[in-house]
Amino acid sequence: MNKTYDAIIIGAGVIGACTAFELAKKGWKALSIDKLPESGYGSTSNSCAIIRTYYSALETCAIAYESWHYWSNWENHLGVQDDQGMIKYKQTGCLVIKTPHNHDLSKVCQTMDEIGCPYSHVPTENITDYLPIADTQQFEPAKPMDDPEFGMPTGSAIRGAVFFPHGGYVNDPKLAAHNAQVAAEAHGAEFLFRAEVSEIRSDKDRVCGVTLKDGSEINAPVVINVAGPHSSKINEMAGVLDDMKMTTRPMRHETSHVPSPEGFDFEKEGLVYSDSDVSTYCRPEIGNNIVIGSEDPECDEPVWVDDPDNFNDSFSEQWTLQVMRMAQRFPGLGIPSKAQGVVALYDVTEDWIPIYDKSSLSGFYMAIGTSGNQFKNAPIAAKMIGAIVEACENGHDHDAEPLQFHLENIDRTISLGVFSRNREIDQNSSFSVIG
Ligand SMILES: Cc1cc2nc3c(=O)[nH]c(=O)nc-3n(C[C@H](O)[C@H](O)[C@H](O)COP(=O)(O)OP(=O)(O)OC[C@H]3O[C@@H](n4cnc5c(N)ncnc54)[C@H](O)[C@@H]3O)c2cc1C
Repeated sequence: MNKTYDAIIIGAGVIGACTAFELAKKGWKALSIDKLPESGYGSTSNSCAIIRTYYSALETCAIAYESWHYWSNWENHLGVQDDQGMIKYKQTGCLVIKTPHNHDLSKVCQTMDEIGCPYSHVPTENITDYLPIADTQQFEPAKPMDDPEFGMPTGSAIRGAVFFPHGGYVNDPKLAAHNAQVAAEAHGAEFLFRAEVSEIRSDKDRVCGVTLKDGSEINAPVVINVAGPHSSKINEMAGVLDDMKMTTRPMRHETSHVPSPEGFDFEKEGLVYSDSDVSTYCRPEIGNNIVIGSEDPECDEPVWVDDPDNFNDSFSEQWTLQVMRMAQRFPGLGIPSKAQGVVALYDVTEDWIPIYDKSSLSGFYMAIGTSGNQFKNAPIAAKMIGAIVEACENGHDHDAEPLQFHLENIDRTISLGVFSRNREIDQNSSFSVIG
């Protein structure tokens, strides 16, 4: 292998592989390094891979809607065929329940109007048109399982919902990363697996390459941290943590895979569903299953993890709790005695919004802090970090004058300062996986 590259990308998850694709298309000689055996083997493989357009801020909604266009047109976007097959994007639409917590989605709908993303209001009595298995009583606020009031309705009816037709999920998130790897390789990018970065080297205040655990050195004037839940470890190696207002920390999360209630085919007739009244979300899964995750209610203690290489990967009470919460909405939901699903790590920032930015070390960049909600944005995150790298390497001061970035599919320009490592905490955030 040639040991000198234009750019080294640490991490070959879905965002890392898409970043390699974007840089290679620009003519950069890019090397992706991952300590795992294949692309997408890290947190990407555990993703629910839900594609949706609703977030808390205009910019985060805008990039999600922009990105939806790439998933809808994935094969054209990548321009390759992968021998392992190509992912399928399943457009089910997303139904989101209106609650006081999300201000009845009024701000989200206003943002959708601004970015031209379609939606429709669904009165409470029509929710069962979308989900015949739903009980539309109100249960909020979310409670721990040992609360005597758990499962008791707190009102006769929820306040309606909003249906977003442009949403769904990707059937195989790991394959999405592999598809992007194949596309990157078609443009000359290289991938190195089972190789762990143990040092980031710099020379005269500029990054100059990485050293691997086996002692070998690989040189490049640009190094990009796309290491998922290991992001803060990589930033520490680069010595850039002191310059950052935002931090990234691994947080443990479980998703529960359970059979659909009898008599309803959730795989064929279900959709992506987000319900902050019962603080859970779900989507269809093959085998007529439902994948259920938590919307991080305040009553649940976050489970921070000190070492992403050493955490409890067994199912816990969280698994049962989120199924029980969803069973409030879907009373026919059975709770199997054997837990199935995943135990994995998010890489979480203070406001659950990612960091796509430069750093205090010249040539060292980061696409991190993806907070359990950036699978969907991988194609556009890669374009944005590519633009930041290119501009900064051409002398632009992105800290002083945040780059303006044009989202070509929705024809809107946003400031990438929103994703700065030194932004103030966005108080409009949901402070949850919703972003
Ligand atoms: C349970 C769960 C559910 C989720 N659901 C959704 C969802 O429905 N929708 C959505 O949009 N997002 C979702 N996400 C978030 C989404 O999956 C992530 O944001 C996305 O996969 C991150 O991709 P990545 O490429 O940044 O990181 P990762 O996939 O984590 O890849 C990072 C890579 O870096 C490598 N690495 C780390 N350290 C080193 C080192 N020292 N040397 C070499 N390699 C290293 C790792 O091996 C890993 O492969 C979910 C996440 C989880 C965990």
